[in-house]
Amino acid sequence: MYAFLLIAGFSLLAAWVLFFFANRDLLLRLWREPTLLRPVLIVESDDWGPGPEADAQALQRIAAILARVRDREHRPAVMTLGVVLGKPDGAAILADNCGHYHRRGLGEARYAPIVGAMRQGCEMGVFALQRHGLEHCWPESLLVRARQDGVLRAWLADPEARSEALPSALQSRWVDAGTLPSRPLPEAEVRRAVMDEAEVFLTLFGICPPVAVPNTFVWDDAVERAWAQSGVRCVVTCGRQYQARGADGALAASARRIVNGESGQSGVRYLVRDAYFEPIRGHRAEQVWEAVARRTALGRPTLLETHRESFIDADHGDTALAELERALAGVVERHPDVCFISTERLADAYADRQHALWQRSMRARSVTFLRRLLAEAGLSRPLKLCGLYFVLPMVVRLLATVTPSAAGRH
Ligand SMILES: [Zn+2]
Repeated sequence: MYAFLLIAGFSLLAAWVLFFFANRDLLLRLWREPTLLRPVLIVESDDWGPGPEADAQALQRIAAILARVRDREHRPAVMTLGVVLGKPDGAAILADNCGHYHRRGLGEARYAPIVGAMRQGCEMGVFALQRHGLEHCWPESLLVRARQDGVLRAWLADPEARSEALPSALQSRWVDAGTLPSRPLPEAEVRRAVMDEAEVFLTLFGICPPVAVPNTFVWDDAVERAWAQSGVRCVVTCGRQYQARGADGALAASARRIVNGESGQSGVRYLVRDAYFEPIRGHRAEQVWEAVARRTALGRPTLLETHRESFIDADHGDTALAELERALAGVVERHPDVCFISTERLADAYADRQHALWQRSMRARSVTFLRRLLAEAGLSRPLKLCGLYFVLPMVVRLLATVTPSAAGRH
């Protein structure tokens, strides 16, 4: 009996050693990922750009809601605007037989109310602008596809058509999806496009946002280098880097997993946006509360992804606004210590390990680390196989019990 227990004990120990050895890279990255001391919530919305005047009114209503909800330091909630600075000028492109690209720019007088609403929100401290492309496609790819695709030409012929209705693969700006599977773009052209975008930002808003959001989360090292050269310090990711579209137009297998605070080319810092709030797709405040609670337990910020399409829809816009307010107010009620901050400021905090947002208690960090292991989808099976999936929750409970809620404040 004694021998049996001894063998079983050694086998279990060996399985655990094997688990840690086999997954050492990921474990090290999860340990190194800083742990937040308090909940952080940022609403990240994409695709704002040329559109009808009603979009400006939607932005104003969003700004008013954000200004009403405050954290304990009396800072308003922040929504980042992933700004698309232009759209294809369909009529001109069709008149040119899809031979050359023509653009409608956000700087045109007709879009002045939208730009005005964006500026006003920035002055109120409720909006923060982020780069999301000079258009939500790569112009040459659009032309190549339009020459052979009647549906795409119909999209170009519709003056009200929005980028959200483009074929998914074409919405990936930083890859050549003119033919599939996609191919990387020439680095010189990427550099020029990034510089052009930065110039328009400077002209329209007097600033060049240091945060970039890759369209559909497809980008490569060349794009990152170009961003860094033009002042980008932070890239918002979904926790994965996609680099291509497959033959069917779908996202090709992800190149790598990304953890908050990790660095890419030329020192750009990654943040992970992996919570979703699309009222037009049925998401409600309750899901936001759940997302914030879950990420807070993992010492991570909640970057809540949403898109303009939820707020500009004639039938669902009011619901979206009401749910946004209910979600934010509910988070403040459930987490009175929540921190509202822009993505740019959060990225700066990740660059500064002495920042007040970070947990320093080794015991509290250990609890968070173990929770991260248990929450990591890719580790679920190996954790179960070696038995740690059942042992670690007990360790977490034990450590959390002897760690008072004030852990880390010493
Ligand atoms: Zn987008």
